[in-house]
Parts: sequence; C-alpha cells; structure tokens
Amino acid sequence: MNAPDRCEGCGRAIAGGAAACRAEFDAVCAADYGGAVPYPLHRLTVDAYALQHPDAFMVSGKSYAAHLVGTLAWFEHGGRADVQRALRSWLDGARELERPRPPDDRGVLTLADVIAAGDGDAHAEALARWARSAWNAYAPQHALAQRWLAAALAARRERC
Ligand SMILES: [Zn+2]
Repeated sequence: MNAPDRCEGCGRAIAGGAAACRAEFDAVCAADYGGAVPYPLHRLTVDAYALQHPDAFMVSGKSYAAHLVGTLAWFEHGGRADVQRALRSWLDGARELERPRPPDDRGVLTLADVIAAGDGDAHAEALARWARSAWNAYAPQHALAQRWLAAALAARRERC
C-alpha cells in the first residue's frame, strides 16, 4: 500500500497524509510554547487547525462549538481573554449541542502556508489569513456560530 500523499483533513498535498500534517501542527504548537507567540495567537492556530481537521478535533457538539465559536470570537473580539473565558464556561455547562456536519471544502489555505510565511509579523499575518480561509469554508454555519457566541456572552452577563 502506498503512503498517503494528501491530508484528508485539510486537503493539502503532503507525503504521509494526515499523520504528517498532524506532526507539523504539533511542531508549530511546540514552537508556540517555546517562543514569543502570544497565547491568543496560539489559540487561533489550534482553532483554525481544528476547523480543517474536524474528524480529529471537533468530534462532539461541544468541541465543534468550541473551535467554530473560538475562531469567530477571534475575528469579532480579537482574542480577548474575557470572551474566551465566557465561551469556556458556557461550554463547561450542562448543555447538549448538536454537532453539525462539517463542510467538505475546508478552505484554500492550510498550515503549510503559515509555516512557509516565516516568523514574527509574517507568521501572525499568515495565521490570520489561514484562519479566515478556514472560517469562510464554514459559511453555512456562520449564523449558528453567531448564535452560540451570543448565548455564551449572555450567560456571562447573567452570572455577573
Ligand atoms: Zn491537514
């Protein structure tokens, strides 16, 4: 049997397929922790990667919501810690969320574009472009993500 040459999650061409793509993601995460990448940018990396690999990272309705709404929260609130906290505590609550079906097309940019961009500002800009591309692929679920985010923020206000 030949080794896969395409990641079945994000669709990028890579020798070794999904496993090789995942290994590169793990390496990027390790570099995030070891370097000067701010935590919100690391979060966005995880969310964008999850959107493109939903079968591994968005298995439950809650994990689906976490990454979909996490990405939306980044675009609307710039990775604000209080918004992320509100989302987390909303997801920690006792609620059932139905898992939507992920789109077949996951966006034109992949982790490969982020790795190719280099470090520093170029990394941050490539990361934002990649996340936007992955988010756009979920266009049919943007309204759902907006509703989930609104519910999370409303739940936070009730607790105050
Ligand atoms: Zn991949």
